[in-house]
Amino acid sequence: MNMDKFAQQIQEVRQRTEELNQHVGQSSSPQPDLLVQAFGELQFALDELRVAEEELRVQNDELAVARGLIEQERQRYMDLFDFAPDGYLVTDANGTILEANRAAAHQLQVSKKFLQCKPLVNFIPQEERQAFRTQLLQLRDKEGLYDWEICMQSRDGNKFDCSLSVTTVQDLQGNSIGWRWLMRNITARKQAEEQIRSIQLQNMQLQEAARIKSQFVANMSHELRTPLHAILGFSQLLLRRYYDHFPPELRSMVERIISSGKHLLALIEDILDFSTLEAGRLNLQKQEFNLVELVTTVTEELRFLADQKNLTLAIHIDIQNHKIVNDSNRVRQVLVNLLSNAIKFTDTGGVFVEVQQVGQDRVALMVRDTGIGIPEDELKNIFQEFRQVNQSITRRHGGTGLGLAIVDKLLRLMNGTITIKSKLGEGSTFRVELPRQVS
Ligand code: ADP
Repeated sequence: MNMDKFAQQIQEVRQRTEELNQHVGQSSSPQPDLLVQAFGELQFALDELRVAEEELRVQNDELAVARGLIEQERQRYMDLFDFAPDGYLVTDANGTILEANRAAAHQLQVSKKFLQCKPLVNFIPQEERQAFRTQLLQLRDKEGLYDWEICMQSRDGNKFDCSLSVTTVQDLQGNSIGWRWLMRNITARKQAEEQIRSIQLQNMQLQEAARIKSQFVANMSHELRTPLHAILGFSQLLLRRYYDHFPPELRSMVERIISSGKHLLALIEDILDFSTLEAGRLNLQKQEFNLVELVTTVTEELRFLADQKNLTLAIHIDIQNHKIVNDSNRVRQVLVNLLSNAIKFTDTGGVFVEVQQVGQDRVALMVRDTGIGIPEDELKNIFQEFRQVNQSITRRHGGTGLGLAIVDKLLRLMNGTITIKSKLGEGSTFRVELPRQVS
C-alpha cells in the first residue's frame, strides 16, 4: 500500500465521522439505528486503518532492509576506492580535488583530509605547471580515457614519475563537471627502463669492443702467420738441402724448430678461426663431397698418433648415401679436433669413429674413446673457450682449449649439433649431427 492510498483512507474515515456528527447533531433525539450503523461504519473504517497501518509497517521494514543493503554496497565501493593499490582522485572541472583515496594520499604524502579542496596543480612541480594546465584545457574536448606521463611532487618536495589516466565526469545533460584521475607511481619502472637503456648501451659498447678485439686478433694472427711460414719453409729447405752435411745434433735442432713452428702455426690458426667465428665473419664454402671418404682419410692421417700409443683406431660406416653438401674443410676440422682429442686423452683401449644415417636429411658422426672421461659437472662448460678440465693433464698433452669452442661454433654455423656422453675413467662419446645439405 502506498502513502496516497493510506492518506485517502484516513480522509474517508474523517469524512464519515463528520457525516455521523452531522446526523447526530440534526436529530433532536438519538436514533438507535443510525447510531448502530454509524458505529458499524466507524468500526469498519478503523479495521481498514489498522490493516493499512500494518502494511505500512511491513513496507517500512522492507525499506529499512533495502536501505541497509544500499549502504553496505556503498561502503563496499568506498572500500574498493579507498584501498585500491593505485591513487584515485576526483576533481571538479578546475582541477580542485573533491575526493581522494588512501593510495593517492600516500603518493602525495598528505592526509586525505588535507587533499580535499586543494588544486591538483599544487602537486605538479613549478616548472611543469604551465604544461599541465595546457594539457588539461585540451582534454576538455576529449572523450574517453586519456593517458599521459608526468612528473609530480609530493608535499615533502620529492618528485616522482607518474602515469595519469584521466576521464571526464559529466552531469545528466552531458556537460563536463569534473575529472576522475588514476595516478600510478612509475618511478621504479622508469628507473628500470633507464637501467635497461644503459645496459643496452654498455652491451653495444662491449660488442663494439669485442668486434675491435676480434679484428685485432684476426689481423695479428695473419701478421704472425706470414713470418712463421717463412721460418717453417726455410727450416724445411735447410734440412732437405743440407741433411747429409749436418751432424745429427744440428739435424735434431732444425727438426725441433720445424715441429715447434708447426705447433705455433696450429695455435695461431685456432686463434684466427675462433676470432673469425666469434665475429660472425666465417663463411662456409659449400660443395658436394663424399663424407665417408673424408672420414676415412682423416682417420688414416691420424693413425700414426694412435699407433704411437698402441691404441686401436677403427671406423664403422652405416650409411648408404655417402654424399653431403657442406664445407668439407670445416667438416674435416671438426673431425680432426674430436679425433685428436680422443687419441690425446686415451692411454689404453681405443678410439672408434662411426658414421650413421639420421632420418632422411641428417647424418651423425660419432667419436668414441676409452680414455680418461670428463667429470659430469664439466660437461656443460666444455665448449667454452680456453676451458680445460685438468690443467696438469692438458699441460702434458698440450692444446689451447679452443678446439671444442671452434667445433661448437662451426656446428652452429652448419645447423648441426654436438652432444657428449662421458664417464670419468671409462671414456667419452662425442656425437655430431649435421644436415645432409647445409642451407
Ligand atoms: P684442448 O684439447 O686444446 O685443450 P679442447 O677445446 O679441444 O681444447 O678441449 C677442451 C678440454 O676438454 C680438454 O682440455 C680436455 O680437458 C677436455 N676433453 C676434450 N675431449 C676430451 C676427450 N675425448 N676425453 C677427455 N677429455 C676431453
